Formats: sequence, C-alpha cells, structure tokens
Amino acid sequence: MINQIGMKKLVVLGAGESGVGAALLAKAKGYAVFVSDFGKIAAKYVEALKKGGLAFEAEKHTEILILGADVVVKSPGIHDDAAIVKKIKLKGIPVISEIEFAAKYTNANVIGITGSNGKTTTTMLTGHVLSSGSKGVTMAGNIGDSFAKAVLEDVTETFVLELSSFQLDGINEFTPHIAVLLNLSPDHLDRYNYDYSKYIASKFRLIKNQTDTDYFIYDADDKEIKNYIKNNKPKAQCFPFSMEKELENGAFIKNKHIVINMNNEQEIIVSESSLSLKGKHNTKNAMAAAMSARLVGIRKQTIRESLTNFQGVSHRLETVLKVNNVQYINDSKATNVNAAYFALEAVKTPVVWIVGGVDKGNDYSELYKLVNEKVKAIVCLGVDNSRIVGSFGNCVDTIVETQSMQEAVKISHALADRNDTVLLSPCCASFDLFKNYEDRGNQFKAAVHKL
Ligand code: ADP
Repeated sequence: MINQIGMKKLVVLGAGESGVGAALLAKAKGYAVFVSDFGKIAAKYVEALKKGGLAFEAEKHTEILILGADVVVKSPGIHDDAAIVKKIKLKGIPVISEIEFAAKYTNANVIGITGSNGKTTTTMLTGHVLSSGSKGVTMAGNIGDSFAKAVLEDVTETFVLELSSFQLDGINEFTPHIAVLLNLSPDHLDRYNYDYSKYIASKFRLIKNQTDTDYFIYDADDKEIKNYIKNNKPKAQCFPFSMEKELENGAFIKNKHIVINMNNEQEIIVSESSLSLKGKHNTKNAMAAAMSARLVGIRKQTIRESLTNFQGVSHRLETVLKVNNVQYINDSKATNVNAAYFALEAVKTPVVWIVGGVDKGNDYSELYKLVNEKVKAIVCLGVDNSRIVGSFGNCVDTIVETQSMQEAVKISHALADRNDTVLLSPCCASFDLFKNYEDRGNQFKAAVHKL
C-alpha cells in the first residue's frame, strides 16, 4: 500500500479520532497512507479505516513499514519517548501532529483555543457566538471531529479549534489567526518530565508563528502567562482580558459589565449577571469568546444575546436538579485543583462537596480558604482517599468515605440542609471507579434523579 510509485508516504501513528482523520485527509490529498496503532483500535475507527480503503495494523508497529515514511503524523496520546517515535526521529523523518498536517489544506480563518482549563467551554461558547452571528463556523480539534476530518468534510469560513498541549507539541508552521490562551496551571506533567516550564512552553507554541497581522487573546491576570510574555514578547496584536483592571486594549469588568476596549473605543458588551454561565472562570471564558467574536466582526448585540442564551456544556458546573431545595451540581470534568477552585468559588451557598478519584499529585493548599469558608461536609469518592482526608480533615467537621456514586449522593442528601448545594467537583481523574469523567457525571445525575 505504501509502495505506490511516485506517491509520498505518510504514516499515521495511533488510530483514534485524530489519527483516522489525518489518514483520510492524507489519502484524499494523494499520499500513500499506512496507519499503525500499538493498541487495539476501537470498532468505529476500524470501520472508518476500512470504508476509507486505508491500510492499517493494530496491536503492533511493523518497523519496516513505518520507517520508510516521508512524514509521520503522531497522535497526541503517544508519548515522544515511545520507542517507535525515537526510532522515527533517529532516521530524520519529520514527526508532526494532525493539526499541523490538516492546517496545510484549508484557507479558512482559524481561532485556536488552549489553556489548562476552560478549552471545551470556550470553544463551544465561541462557536455559539460566531454561528449566532451567521458566520460559517466549525468546531473541531480536541472536541468532536478532528481538525483533519473537518477540513476534509467542511467548507467553512472559520474553524474554532480546541487545542491541547500535546497537539501543540507537534506543530511547526500552524498559525491560528486568533490565538486564545485561557490560563496556566500544572497538568499532564507526567508528559513533560515533571517540568512545569516545559508544559508552559508547549502551550505557548500556539503563538510562535503568529505575526503582527494576527491576534493573541490571553488572561492578563494569570501570573504564569504574565511571566512568560515578559521575556518572550508576542508578535501578534495582543488583546488580553482581566477581572482585576481596566485595559487599554482588551476586555475587562467595569460597573459589573464586560467592556471591550479596542482602538481606544470602549464598548459595553453585557452585564456579568446576565451571562448564562456562572462563576468567575466563566466570565473570563465569556470575555475571551466575546473578543474573538468582535475581532471577526460579530455585532455587539449578537454577542450579548448569545452569551446570555448559551446552554453550557455537560459535566462543567452543570446544574442538575433541586431536591428539597438543595441544588445538585455536576462538575465531573473538574479533574484538577484549579477547576475545582473555580467551582467552589462560583457556589454561593454552603456546600456538601463530593471529591476524589485518581490524584495526579495535587497540591490542595490552594483550596483551603474556600473549603474553610464554604464546605460543611466532604464526601470522598475514590479507591484511595488518604490524600483528601489528610488535606481537608482539619477543615471540616464531617468527612465520609465511599466508593459508590449512588451512596455518595445518598450521604450528601442526608448531610445537606435546605438552600445548600451538593457539588461533585472531584479534583481528580475518574479511572479508579469510572470509565471516564462522563461516566462519573452521568452516574451522579442518575443517582440525583433517583432521590
Ligand atoms: P478543558 O477542555 O480545558 O478541560 P472544560 O471547559 O472542559 O475545560 O472545563 C473543565 C473544568 O474546568 C470544568 O470543571 C469547568 O467548570 C472548569 N473551567 C472552565 N473554564 C475554566 C477557567 N477559565 N478556569 C478554570 N476552570 C475552568
């Protein structure tokens, strides 16, 4: 298959969403393609590969087929230290990400969104605002379809891409016209030799190819972002956002409204209280989305309406139900400390907090103040709860352990009084007791509905 004469040979490592998308696009663009996955390939992707007439292998890497490639597209889940990747690099074969590859085949406007938290929410919100403004818009990347599949299937005016650090690691020339960096906090450090500065550098690859005709939107209050750009001045036109101060160029809060200042003209966009997504973090996400929308020419009125009618994304501070005047909130996607911080910050009543799972080496001290102020009881939901108990044992009077979601919800129900909130915001990954964060959130919602 990959020996067709005259054709460039492209090998895809990893047959998940991005790998299969890249393979289909590469075939359409005239490459001889071979897909290799060291693990099992999910049935839907086997079907897609067969339907696309693509050569592939599962549960092995056949070196003779892989090391003859002209270029390798590596899926974001595969570590740079994997033996096969090292061999490919040793032979001098370029290794790129699916984002880099797909970008070559579209002239559409690209808005690239990254950050440690809030990528999915802001991507969906930005897509919603743009489509409300009648822009042809496609959301892709780390959500829904891969960028490559979207490029193959869609003729669109604007792509709004959610980009992870792993996807950014494999870019050389990819340049979003509008780059959004929401925030930085330690995450995925196992992939960066436990070196936070490497993870930060990876996130900043988003803007490395931008020029002064491009735009860079970022959180001006984020200390890591501020530090980095002090020493590495962005080439793009900068439009930061801030909850703390007024900005000459960018978005900020004035008299409880989001205001955008562009070219010395201040526009009041929307009141904070009318935003559909609650919490300080979501106000920041809204500022980023509003600024992207303004930069592509969406009217102020449309931005206002769409920020107030956006439905939100499941498992992100999702309001489930009120039972006996107790509000139940599903924030299952909060798999790190920073996300849980903003969830606790957003809730305005006493909280029964369901927390725990696979601890990624969390430093919980950032949460002590909020837990002391707001949390009346903790329900630990994990196989090993020792770090949660050790960290918060002195902050609350009641701390209970369980390994069943149904029980966690029942216990929370018993502990909560009228007007309290039961918040599932676990700070941890879900794999000890659940398939993934969606499974965890869905089990929570099902248990709440059974109360
Ligand atoms: P990501 O795609 O980056 O994982 P999500 O939008 O899926 O981000 O949200 C993940 C978690 O982070 C949720 O708990 C959500 O409530 C929280 N979150 C959303 N936006 C932000 C933000 N700007 N800062 C901190 N946490 C956020």
